[in-house]
Amino acid sequence: MNRSTYALAVFALIAVVLTGAALTWANAQRKSNRKASAATAQQQNRAEAATDESGAPDTADTRRDVFISASRAPSAAKFGEGTWINSEPTTLEELRGRVVLVDFWTFGCYNCRNTLPTLKRLDAEYRSKGLTIVGVHAPESDYEKGIGNVRDAVQRLGIKYPVVTDNDYATWRAYNIQAWPTVVILDKQGRIRFTHVGEGHYEQQEQIIQKLLAEADVSTRATEDKTDSSRQRGANMEEKVEKSEEEWRAEMTPQQFHVMREKGTERAFTGEYNASKKQGMYVCAACGNPLFSSDTKFESGTGWPSFYQPVSERSVDEHVDRAYGMTRTEVVCARCASHLGHVFDDGPRPTGLRYCMNSVALKLNENNSGQD
Ligand SMILES: [Zn+2]
Repeated sequence: MNRSTYALAVFALIAVVLTGAALTWANAQRKSNRKASAATAQQQNRAEAATDESGAPDTADTRRDVFISASRAPSAAKFGEGTWINSEPTTLEELRGRVVLVDFWTFGCYNCRNTLPTLKRLDAEYRSKGLTIVGVHAPESDYEKGIGNVRDAVQRLGIKYPVVTDNDYATWRAYNIQAWPTVVILDKQGRIRFTHVGEGHYEQQEQIIQKLLAEADVSTRATEDKTDSSRQRGANMEEKVEKSEEEWRAEMTPQQFHVMREKGTERAFTGEYNASKKQGMYVCAACGNPLFSSDTKFESGTGWPSFYQPVSERSVDEHVDRAYGMTRTEVVCARCASHLGHVFDDGPRPTGLRYCMNSVALKLNENNSGQD
């Protein structure tokens, strides 16, 4: 080996060592970023928020862990292109009128997985009351980019809310996200009202969801006015109705009693309202409590009248039903506790829910349209 070859070899060796060190360092940075405790990530993000380069308007409030007032809340960016799991492709415009929790996560991140029990509980409890959770899956490794791997993980982890892949990080960048997991909560007008980085703050998130669900929805006020009279009736009917089974039996037809008090099911395609396209408010056949607007009725093909959403969060109560060796969610009237049917999570947008009802448990109060 002559002198210049020797020098070249030493040079090449140094280059290899340096590259290796740089890669190790970059990897460590990535790992420490991903494993950042909630507290550290929060501090990082507070600092980043203070020197915000995202181009967000000056007047907009983007602080972490703070409930942001509607007047200072920035509009959320739209979702980037991606593959949707558990849902058809959905836009924020289509979710107007609903509170939206956007969870930036990836299935390989254990901090993300630690937040899933809470997210799944919030989905189960608040979806029918106006909450949509969207998991934006921003992968960290190439393995986490594989759509088959994401689908498997979503199923294995028992996630039922919509998940959209963000393999090009378009949504991640648009929301100026720094770490996994980050939760962003949007109000009914699509404005960012709360951001939390890392695990924890679960109670605060739930309180904010409740607060935002209670806020007026300006964008759908016009349609709400149409049902004002029935809403008022609902408000006057908040007192529970309690009667003995004998009293119920005396008031109901035998079929109604069987379905509503003994949790029976009418035969498919036999009910009065299965194929009905009439406009109006479906109320409880036992107590008159408003349950479902005909606007939320859809053709499910099951043979029972199906709706994607109750008319208000006070309309129905839901209970886990383990009868007949199946686990289903039973739906009862919130006012008189009569059985109405079951709810399944294979419905259409915007909720993805299917309220499968017995016609005999409903009564349609038709709109006075001058027809029929
Ligand atoms: Zn009732």
